[in-house]
Amino acid sequence: MISLERLTKKYGDFTAVDAIDLEVPPGQLFGFLGPNGAGKTTTLRMIAGILRPTDGRIRIGGIDVVRQPNEAKARLGFIPDRPFIYEKLTGMEFLRFVAGLYGQQGAQVEHRGRELLALFDLEDWRDELVESYSHGMRQKLIISGAFVHRPAVIVVDEPMVGLDPKAARTLKDLFREYVRRGHTIMMSTHTLEVAQHLCDRIAIIRRGRIVAAGTMDELRRHAEHGAEGLEDIFLRLTGEIAARDLVEVLDA
Ligand code: ATP
Repeated sequence: MISLERLTKKYGDFTAVDAIDLEVPPGQLFGFLGPNGAGKTTTLRMIAGILRPTDGRIRIGGIDVVRQPNEAKARLGFIPDRPFIYEKLTGMEFLRFVAGLYGQQGAQVEHRGRELLALFDLEDWRDELVESYSHGMRQKLIISGAFVHRPAVIVVDEPMVGLDPKAARTLKDLFREYVRRGHTIMMSTHTLEVAQHLCDRIAIIRRGRIVAAGTMDELRRHAEHGAEGLEDIFLRLTGEIAARDLVEVLDA
């Protein structure tokens, strides 16, 4: 459903995303993991069609994101890590506005909007201006906005940040039910426990390149023998700071 071919992004001489190949089939929740600055947000923004690739190809359901941006975006919902919402709209107006961008309106949108707001405990805030929402409430509204037009693919950058435990649980359940219905989700996260329990497959990116991809079992085999949970696997594959380095830093 999401297909990346030699996807590359350069900022001047610096290569942030380096010839990534990836296939995410329908009905799958795909986790995208990597250290800070590895290239996750850059990749997700290119898939969402808001950042132009330097090279390579992105297809959503066979549709080229660069050549047919409108057709590709119609199939896609994007939840950015730092969302922007118009402060002077109410929650419900925001959802109507988003649905309208996709040419959807009327009773179905109203019904779906109300259901999504109720799911995230925002029904009492439906007619309040976004400027009065807390950070977590805005995040829940943005998430609702990604689902309101019923896209086939959802791309999410760090979805759990700022959500309370109940909302985080609701979102996990919503994601699982959504992929069970044959849709596709690609999600970046630093919360390894979330990735381990929620995702069907995971890719680990480091310095713009995918260093490993597969199911938890496949990643375990890929990492050195003895790696247990995703944290072990992640740290081995990304070569992150080891305990002895910490001792050296503290002793220095
Ligand atoms: P994090 O986990 O910290 O959010 P990330 O994996 O999402 O990191 P990106 O935001 O994709 O990382 O950034 C990848 C690299 O590209 C980083 O080295 C970053 O400094 C660089 N980069 C991102 N945006 C720009 C830009 N507009 N101009 C120059 N370099 C950029």
